[in-house]
Amino acid sequence: MSDDATPKTSRHLGGISLNFIPAAAGDGQPTASRAVARESVEVVEARVVIVGSGPAGLTAAIYAARANLQPVVIGGLAAGGQLMITSDVENYPGFPDGIQGPELMGLFRKQAERFGARVVDVDVERIDLGRRPFRLWAAGVEYRAEAVIVATGAEAIWLGIDSETRLRGRGVSACATCDGFFYRDKEVGVVGGGDSAFEEALFLTRFASKVHLIHRRDQFRCSKILRARAVAHPKIELHLNRTVEEVLGADKVEALRLGRTDEPGEELLKIDGLFVAIGHRPNVAVFRDWLETDVKGYLRTEGATTASNIDGVFIAGDVDDHRYRQAVTAAGEGCRAAIDAERWLESQEAAARSSAVAAPEQTQPATA
Ligand SMILES: Cc1cc2nc3c(=O)[nH]c(=O)nc-3n(C[C@H](O)[C@H](O)[C@H](O)COP(=O)(O)OP(=O)(O)OC[C@H]3O[C@@H](n4cnc5c(N)ncnc54)[C@H](O)[C@@H]3O)c2cc1C
Repeated sequence: MSDDATPKTSRHLGGISLNFIPAAAGDGQPTASRAVARESVEVVEARVVIVGSGPAGLTAAIYAARANLQPVVIGGLAAGGQLMITSDVENYPGFPDGIQGPELMGLFRKQAERFGARVVDVDVERIDLGRRPFRLWAAGVEYRAEAVIVATGAEAIWLGIDSETRLRGRGVSACATCDGFFYRDKEVGVVGGGDSAFEEALFLTRFASKVHLIHRRDQFRCSKILRARAVAHPKIELHLNRTVEEVLGADKVEALRLGRTDEPGEELLKIDGLFVAIGHRPNVAVFRDWLETDVKGYLRTEGATTASNIDGVFIAGDVDDHRYRQAVTAAGEGCRAAIDAERWLESQEAAARSSAVAAPEQTQPATA
């Protein structure tokens, strides 16, 4: 039995319709999922579903809500995104005295909700972008949308040691552009051996008195030009064949305990801040089978817009941007994606209207 033929009960919340669809017996699903599906399946229909509640997703929600599209934001379990794990944000325009990351994201959300966006803090587990309405499943609910904006961000890859996690936001960072300013005339460490690590190290020389670049090998993956610049820089000191075993400090970073990969032994390196620059991982797992990715695994947009390879699906923020990775650029992309989605929906509706007008003419009997 098709979904459309299934008896439903529905209720309306604002502009969103919630349908409760009893699952059909023998619907072709494996036994385990059929047992779950025998409970009512809740269906939420929306014109636009936005996935992600970081700066990109919530900015898209503000614009989509103000365009009267009544968006539903499936914001993820990590609601608010990456800024929730940082403290001072000093480069977001409009806050001359800076603002705490979680407070900023609380304001984004409040603004989106004020215009009627609905935010649910669950992860999308599965999607079907093969036909419209698009379908997304999250926490037992099926969401149906005419247009989808993907704003699932990216995650910094961390070293994975306890002391690093404990001191995150208190001297351990993954973003020199964001936090470098706090280390004027201080000594910092950068871990990594690729282009990002070298770019971060060179950027940090503008503030820090010394930048210690720590790499576990004696070869680098970065471009020759970046390496040459770093080697020649009087403020950068290379620590090759070294691993960070522990970040030391009670409530702020004070030193690193370094291990050696070329011979036995350990060293203590006194620093005031540690920048982990071993890469980022875009959150694309549920979209990878549908949306095109680039060589680095980030979602790909088409031309100068936020359009993806699927008509009606738009992409915004760090999930497609490995170059800028800033809250303000992600927010800007969220705005662009909402405007692209709104114009696309409008063009679909205009096309439907003109074919409805054209249809009766076609049924006119032909005159001789
Ligand atoms: C430690 C740190 C400090 C930073 N400091 C600054 C700063 O000072 N200034 C600045 O401009 N930038 C800063 N940044 C960068 C900034 O946080 C990012 O550029 C920005 O958050 C990207 O926004 P986004 O909306 O694209 O993605 P994110 O903020 O990563 O948000 C992604 C969202 O997608 C959701 N999501 C992921 N997968 C799913 C799924 N399957 N289903 C549903 N939801 C999903 C997540 O829950 C999250 O809500 C910092 C980053 C870090 C890590």
